[in-house]
Amino acid sequence: MEIASNITRIREDFPILTSTVHKHPLVYLDNAATTQKPWSVIKKIEDGYTKQNANVHRGVHFLSQMATEAHEAARATVQQFLGAAHTHEIIFTRGTTESINLVAYSFGETFLKQGDEVIVSEMEHHSNIVPWQLLQQRKGIIIKVIPFNQQGELDLTEYASLFSERTKLVAVTHVSNVLGTINPVKQLVQIAHKHDVPILIDGAQSVPHIAVNVQDLNADFYVFSGHKIYGPTGIGVLYGKEKWLDAMLPYQGGGEMIAQVSFEKTTFNELPYKFEAGTPDFIGSTALAEAIRYVQNIGMDQIAAYETYLLNYATDKLQQIGDVHFFGTSSHKSAVISMQVGDIHHYDMGTLLDKLGIALRTGHHCAQPIMKHYGIEGTLRASFALYNTTQEIDALIAGIERVKQLF
Ligand code: PMP
Repeated sequence: MEIASNITRIREDFPILTSTVHKHPLVYLDNAATTQKPWSVIKKIEDGYTKQNANVHRGVHFLSQMATEAHEAARATVQQFLGAAHTHEIIFTRGTTESINLVAYSFGETFLKQGDEVIVSEMEHHSNIVPWQLLQQRKGIIIKVIPFNQQGELDLTEYASLFSERTKLVAVTHVSNVLGTINPVKQLVQIAHKHDVPILIDGAQSVPHIAVNVQDLNADFYVFSGHKIYGPTGIGVLYGKEKWLDAMLPYQGGGEMIAQVSFEKTTFNELPYKFEAGTPDFIGSTALAEAIRYVQNIGMDQIAAYETYLLNYATDKLQQIGDVHFFGTSSHKSAVISMQVGDIHHYDMGTLLDKLGIALRTGHHCAQPIMKHYGIEGTLRASFALYNTTQEIDALIAGIERVKQLF
């Protein structure tokens, strides 16, 4: 579906977009933090609790079977959306953060020894740094860092030179939540595989905005969060190649993840259940599947094209204001703009824009190494979604002009 010509109808799908904030129409430009939800997703959550709520997998009764079927159908929807080979390669988690922690723990416990190396990049979200540092504390591993240049692009020559005999895993983001850079993931995978090293891709900022096919990318692990793709909070995905997931130790122990339990010997369940201890978020999974159907109906290519149009429109207009410094100027960019306006503190700018109903994010965006790279404490960040409009960007520009006049 072509978005620009259907934008009024699309916006009607998202009830929150008609809100007013401080007596102004809401202009929501904090989509990299979380996205708003369409009626179909909200309705799915309501239906989950009003029509088919029962615990999954264990019940013989009607409601339990219905809930189980919906939960497993959701897994198949995610599998098809990501282009994974098998449904059992899709593990439901709480989100990107938990997916990365799962891999850091289970892959780390299974395969890493003191002195082994993990490569991450300088542009990672803290959730793709700290789990590896925890592993470092537990096991004495070494973390190596791929630097990025002034445009916010990874240095691929430096990346290739970081591999050694001890490299056991690479973990990098597909799209930076601060710089917007779309990293050349296929190339990153190829370089890792040339060294026989598996690679985890953080898809938190890519899956909602561009088409992703994990088999085409040949990623070993790929992770994302439901709430950033118009789905509910508290549900996310870990895709992992069967060969790795099969070999990895479980992450958490409990119900669902076992085959047999006795005090003498416990055996673990098959994939994907081995990694899904406890009652899963079966309402969240079905609502996430609904969100995926929502973006698929519009089309990921249409979404990517429309958001690029918004990005270019906003970048041009911001440049015209003058005195706006951009962090992240790659030509391969997603619709995220991090900036500094004159010498106005990002926090002051964010607070004053809020008074005009405009929601932007300020601060370090959970990526302090990026801030260190530029020698700053934070930025003002506008991030776009499929329901944003050029009129909203005009409101942002007018808001920034107004705040500038105040200073
Ligand atoms: N990685 C990236 C690139 C992100 O932008 C975010 C969220 N800002 C995360 C990981 C963490 O996602 P979550 O908080 O949903 O687990």
